[in-house]
Amino acid sequence: MTLPPDPTLDEKTFCAVHPEVETGLRCAQCRRYMCSKCAVLTEVGYKCRQCIYNQQSAFFKATERDHLLAAAVAVGLGLVGGLIVPRTFVIGALFLGPAMGALIGWAMLRVGQNRRGRHFPLIAAAAIAITALVTNLALIEAILGSFSVISRIANGGELVGVVLQAALPLVIYVVASVLVASRRLR
Ligand SMILES: [Zn+2]
Ligand SMILES: [Zn+2]
Repeated sequence: MTLPPDPTLDEKTFCAVHPEVETGLRCAQCRRYMCSKCAVLTEVGYKCRQCIYNQQSAFFKATERDHLLAAAVAVGLGLVGGLIVPRTFVIGALFLGPAMGALIGWAMLRVGQNRRGRHFPLIAAAAIAITALVTNLALIEAILGSFSVISRIANGGELVGVVLQAALPLVIYVVASVLVASRRLR
């Protein structure tokens, strides 16, 4: 005796990306079936990752030239920020860090007529961090030097002074400006 055909067999539907995963959920946009891993909740219901990606690609319109210009202004302003901010103490860094981040974010969009790039936040972060390092090599050397002083004569006073005077403002500047810039570019 043969088993009767499973009545639900024909109704089984599977994720378009993961054919092994059974699902009844469909993308609100392209109507393809998608599993819970592929579904993204939007204002108009669940959409598949491909539709979300396409949507973002339409949003990110920056050209290659826009990317180059954006990177160039980020490096230029980063050099200025890296030179000035660590010499303004903690209080100066607290004001200038976010201000510099806002300026860099604004300028990066401005040079490309406000066309955005998917990687603009990353470009801003890299430009700020690298220029901060390059413009403060002497400071970084001083900090490393203080560490070796500690290891030899266990004198932490010098390091504390260097950290409070210049290293802390530098760190505050980098973190604050990266946060503000990437938020503006998102
Ligand atoms: Zn879709
Ligand atoms: Zn899937």
